[in-house]
Amino acid sequence: MRPSEGDIVAIWEAGANAPAWQRALLLARHALDGPDPADVPLGQRDAALWRLRARWFGSRVESHTRCPGCGEGVEVAFDVDAIVAPAMASPPSPALAWRGAIVTVRPPSTRDVVEGATAAALTARCLPPDHSELAADPELQQAVARRCAELDPLADVTLELQCAACGAPWLANLDVVRFLWAEVSDAAERTLATVALLAACYGWSEADILAMSPARRAFYLRAADA
Ligand SMILES: [Zn+2]
Repeated sequence: MRPSEGDIVAIWEAGANAPAWQRALLLARHALDGPDPADVPLGQRDAALWRLRARWFGSRVESHTRCPGCGEGVEVAFDVDAIVAPAMASPPSPALAWRGAIVTVRPPSTRDVVEGATAAALTARCLPPDHSELAADPELQQAVARRCAELDPLADVTLELQCAACGAPWLANLDVVRFLWAEVSDAAERTLATVALLAACYGWSEADILAMSPARRAFYLRAADA
């Protein structure tokens, strides 16, 4: 179910000046029950955000980008189900053989990425504490990153695009936080624009206007225009 317009405005207000990872967590609190969203692997977090996107704004996503070759505008359209479904396939083992040892890899969460500032620090957080000293090895860092990507594939979602003008193909990164936040912002700003108009016309408070049904608000808007 989609939240009320007042709730959307509250989410937008809380994240308006926040970095992307905080917006992700703000939204994920509406998408995940139970564990702290900061500790959920990034791909699982983003899968929940894609499903939230479908619940709040529908499963069809239509957007646009620019061709990196010639700069021409390119339409992007896809279905959320097509993004989330392939990740349901059986995941690989978290056990990674490394120079005679078996290390168990854990895909990183939002907290790991925010607190693990370097590749070594992030890798250490993805390994059990008794193997964290191995994390300084750049080869192991790459092996761990590859296994994490296999274990948690929705952490990095790409879409194959091709430019109709110059024919250049490329892989576009689909950032669910960016998509979802743009829609939350649009919805919140549309609501506040209506509040501003009605408040200016009738002198009502924001809380009173937000408490009205959309039908009643639309009537008063039309009446104000007449
Ligand atoms: Zn092009």
